[in-house]
Amino acid sequence: MSEPKKGPLFLTNTLTRKKEEFVPLNPPFVGLYVCGPTVYSDVHLGNVRSFTTFDVLYRWLTHLGYKVRYVRNITDVGHLVDDVDAGEDKIAKRARLEQLEPMEIVQKYTNGFHDVMRLFNLKNPSIEPTATAHLIEQIGMVERIVKNGYAYEANGSVYFDVPKYAEKFAYGELSGRKIDELMTNTRDTEGMEEKRSPLDFAIWKKADAHHLMKWPSPWGEGFPGWHLECSAMSTKYLGQTFDVHGGGMDLKFPHHECEIAQSVAADGIAPVRYWMHGNMLTVNGRKMAKSEGNGFTPEELLTGNHKLLDKGYSAMTVRFFMLQCHYASTLDFSNEAMQASEKGLERMMKAIELLSKLKPGAVDEADIASLEQRCYAAMNDDLNTPVMIAELFEGVRIINSVNDGKLALTGPTIERLKQLFDAMVFDVLGLKKEEGALRQAQGDSAMDGLVGEFIRMRAEAKAKKDFAASDAIREKLAVLGIVLKDGKEGTTWERA
Ligand SMILES: [Zn+2]
Repeated sequence: MSEPKKGPLFLTNTLTRKKEEFVPLNPPFVGLYVCGPTVYSDVHLGNVRSFTTFDVLYRWLTHLGYKVRYVRNITDVGHLVDDVDAGEDKIAKRARLEQLEPMEIVQKYTNGFHDVMRLFNLKNPSIEPTATAHLIEQIGMVERIVKNGYAYEANGSVYFDVPKYAEKFAYGELSGRKIDELMTNTRDTEGMEEKRSPLDFAIWKKADAHHLMKWPSPWGEGFPGWHLECSAMSTKYLGQTFDVHGGGMDLKFPHHECEIAQSVAADGIAPVRYWMHGNMLTVNGRKMAKSEGNGFTPEELLTGNHKLLDKGYSAMTVRFFMLQCHYASTLDFSNEAMQASEKGLERMMKAIELLSKLKPGAVDEADIASLEQRCYAAMNDDLNTPVMIAELFEGVRIINSVNDGKLALTGPTIERLKQLFDAMVFDVLGLKKEEGALRQAQGDSAMDGLVGEFIRMRAEAKAKKDFAASDAIREKLAVLGIVLKDGKEGTTWERA
C-alpha cells in the first residue's frame, strides 16, 4: 500500500498543547474515536459544529490516503443529569417525562441525530457502537481496574480511586488541573459517603429497585459510569493505544481525563496519541446552550423560526459559515455573518458551474499549481479551513477572470483547477449543491419583482395604519404558498 501523499500533516495535540506532526501508529491505517451524542434530546447547532470539525478531519485524512477507522459512539445509558455521579440518568429522566420506554427515547433521538448529520452532510462513522451493547466489555474493564488496585467496591457501586492513581500517574494532565485545586473545588454529591475521596468517580453504579436501565454484574444490579463506555469501546475497536481522540472542549474534564485514567489503570498504557478538542459556538458572545434559550435546533435555523434569527438559512450555508472559522477558535453566530456566508457560498458554487464552461486559452496566466499547494498547506496546518477557503476564493477570482476573457488558462490547467475545487469543496469541506437554494437564486427574479410589489403595498398600508389591508396581503400571499418574513433589513419572502 502506498504512503499517504502531500503531507506532512500537523495537528494541535491538547495533551502537549503543541502543534505536532501527525504520525500514525500503523500507517496507512488511522484509528479515530469521537465522543458521540447522549441521545435524550435534540442536537443543537453547537453539537453540529463539534461533529463537523471531526467530519472534516476524517475527510482530510481520507483524502491524504489514510485508511481511517472512524468510531463515534452513541451514549444510551449512564450519563447522569449533572454530568457527575449524581442525579437521574438523562435518558431515564426523559423517558419518565415523555412516558416512554428508555429504548424508545434512545431510538427517537438517535434517528433525529442521524437526520441532522445527513442534513449537514456529515459522513457516517465506520462503527457507531452503543453503550448498552457493550456491557460485557465495560464490566471487564471495571474488573481489570479493581484487580490492579485502582478502584474499590462500596455498597454495590465501584469507584475509581483518583488519589491512588495520582500517586503514580499524571491525573489532570490533559485538562491542566491539579489534584489539590480539584480537592478544594469539589462539591458534595450523591454517593459521597461511599467514596474514599471526593475526587473518586463511579465506574459502576448500583441501581435501586425502581431503576429502569440496569444489568447484572459481579457487584449486583447496576449500570456503567458515563466515562467508562468510551474507554471500553475505543479499546475494543481501535486497540489499547490509538491515534486520535476528538470531542468538544467541554468534554476535556472530567470525561476525557477519566478516560485516560481508566485505560491506564486497566491496561497500563496511555490510550490516545493525539487529543483534539473543538471550540464552542456562541451567540452574541454567550455559549450556545438549551438553558440559555439560544440553542437553535437545525429546524429553527432552516425555517428562521426563532427570535434571534432574521431569516432561515440552508444547511450548507451553516456548514460553510462554521468552516470559515478555525475549529480551535470560538465561533460567534450572527445574522450578518450568516448572510455573508450565504453570499460567499453562492459565489463559490456559481464559479464551480462556470468551470466546466470555460474556453481554454493558449497559455497559462495564473499559477494553479501554487494555488493547489497553498490549499494543501492550509489544511495540513492543523486543518486551517478558513485559510483554505480564502485560497479557494482566489481560485474563484481566477475562474471569473477567465470567464470574462481577462485571463487565459490552457485546457489541462482548467481541468486541474476543476479537480482542485471538486476535491476541496465537495470531498474535504463536505459542501454540496443545494437544488432549492440555487434555483431560488437563479430563477426567481420575476417572482422577486412581483412579490416585491406586494411587499411595497403592504408596507404602505402599514404606514397608514391600515392593518386590515396589510394583513389581507400577507394572508392572500400565504394562500399562494408565499411566506413573508419581517426582519431588521425589511421584508423577505420564501416559498412555503
Ligand atoms: Zn466519550
